[in-house]
Amino acid sequence: MRDTVKLLLRLQELELIREEARIFHRHDQQDKMAQLDDTLRKQREQVEEQWLRRFDGLRRSGIAVVHEFGGICQNCRMSISLGMLNRMRKGEAEWICPNCGRFLLLSDEG
Ligand SMILES: [Zn+2]
Repeated sequence: MRDTVKLLLRLQELELIREEARIFHRHDQQDKMAQLDDTLRKQREQVEEQWLRRFDGLRRSGIAVVHEFGGICQNCRMSISLGMLNRMRKGEAEWICPNCGRFLLLSDEG
């Protein structure tokens, strides 16, 4: 699931850049905005529908993808059990924080 979550993280970054561009540059950056929209569209096409839906739902109330570090979700600060982390790494559980429901990008260690 690492690839999916990485794609979603990139998607989130692009969306944040786009929002910022919209706020600060407004009308003088039309070409760049169009390019960004294009990149966003291509990026979305690479993600399975079910994950996109969840991503979009989460993005309505903030960020959708967060990092796990030291067994702790960096969004809600809940510690995730080692057993759960292992299951996630083995692909037996979805990379989603059991507490806040955000997509979790697991750190490389462990
Ligand atoms: Zn969380």
